Amino acid sequence: MQKGHLLYEGKAKSLYATDEPNVIWMTYKDDATALNGARKTAFANKGRLNNQISTLLFHYLEKNGVQTHLLETLSETEQLVKKVDVIALEVVVRNVMAGSLAKKLGVAEGAVLAEPIVEFYYKDDALDDPFINEDHIRFLGLATLAEIAELKTVAHTINALLQERFKAANIELVDFKIELGRLADGSIVLADEISPDSCRLWDSETKQKLDKDVFRRDLGDLVSVYEEVLRRLTA
Ligand code: 5GP
Repeated sequence: MQKGHLLYEGKAKSLYATDEPNVIWMTYKDDATALNGARKTAFANKGRLNNQISTLLFHYLEKNGVQTHLLETLSETEQLVKKVDVIALEVVVRNVMAGSLAKKLGVAEGAVLAEPIVEFYYKDDALDDPFINEDHIRFLGLATLAEIAELKTVAHTINALLQERFKAANIELVDFKIELGRLADGSIVLADEISPDSCRLWDSETKQKLDKDVFRRDLGDLVSVYEEVLRRLTA
């Protein structure tokens, strides 16, 4: 497989064409950004750690019946993925009150939610990825009613599987963001990545933060907590 031209440069990953029209070459970068890119720092090894963690979690989800875009992990920072028509939504699932929801509702972080909450954000940097509802999704033509129902079902399935996987590693899955896309036949698959960049992960006992909040909130060394997540998932 030949790596072709740059298709898209994101904040944490770049996408390249390949000589196979349905395959994309995805590389993980060491950059961490916060505040929609306004704050950016490079952390040596972050790309490698996210690639390893995401590969491990995508394989686990595939094994448990979730379709993903992952084809092959090529190197420490590179993957081959299926070309998908990415749905311009960030689907967030929450198990514990934290982050923007705690702020929006004016409640303290840390309460376990009686049921997981699924939220949709419109993936648009110029608009700062606004929180949107199902009617907005249909107005924007991002997904049909049936697809929205499927997105929610897939999000709950992934949440239940990931909660179990992280619990076995003594990690509480507080919340996470996923992105999904359509294959040529219209079927919806998990795309992008699942890593400490896109999840809130707390130590089950001490509640120590093991995710990108360490960078967002200036709480210490980001790479060593990502290493700790990988260590626990592979122990
Ligand atoms: P919140 O809405 O509380 O800021 O984020 C909820 C969850 O989604 C957190 O786990 C956070 O890491 C993830 N998340 C939300 N927006 C983004 C984003 O633009 N990029 C990434 N990587 N994760 C996000």
